[in-house]
Amino acid sequence: MTTIEETLVLVKPDGVARGLTGEILRRIEAKGYALVDIRLVQADRELLGKHYEEHVGKPFYEPLVSFMESGPVVAIRLAGNRVIEGFRSLAGTTDPTTAAPGTIRGDLGRDWGLAVQQNLVHGSDSPESAARELALWFN
Ligand code: GDP
Ligand code: MG
Repeated sequence: MTTIEETLVLVKPDGVARGLTGEILRRIEAKGYALVDIRLVQADRELLGKHYEEHVGKPFYEPLVSFMESGPVVAIRLAGNRVIEGFRSLAGTTDPTTAAPGTIRGDLGRDWGLAVQQNLVHGSDSPESAARELALWFN
């Protein structure tokens, strides 16, 4: 059974600054997902507050927003069969120290010991999140 979906992927400011956008896109394309749209965005607090509304009030929220507005991000509208779950699997778990080798975060993510994990990428976590986030980042 096929479930063609779209998801929002962000290459976070650490990924762009470290020159890893191409490597991350290479992994996405090698997996067979389709790039539907892509743009470089300097996000502001208003956009980030909506994007991360589920994390408002958590200890890492302020560092997270500051980090995400520290430089441009690459926003990608990505399509494919079960791509929401599939990209999360490619990305690996949140903490780069324990993310599995073979994943983007496991292979390339570094633990800098900061108040927020700079873990290279974001991927929507459900169909509802994907729809909400794609509407925020792509009009
Ligand atoms: P994700 O879906 O794997 O990106 O993780 P979450 O949605 O739970 O959190 C959003 C982002 O906040 C993560 O990607 C990290 O950059 C950061 N973050 C989340 N949880 C923690 C935490 O416990 N400690 C720190 N330092 N950063 C976190
Ligand atoms: Mg999340």
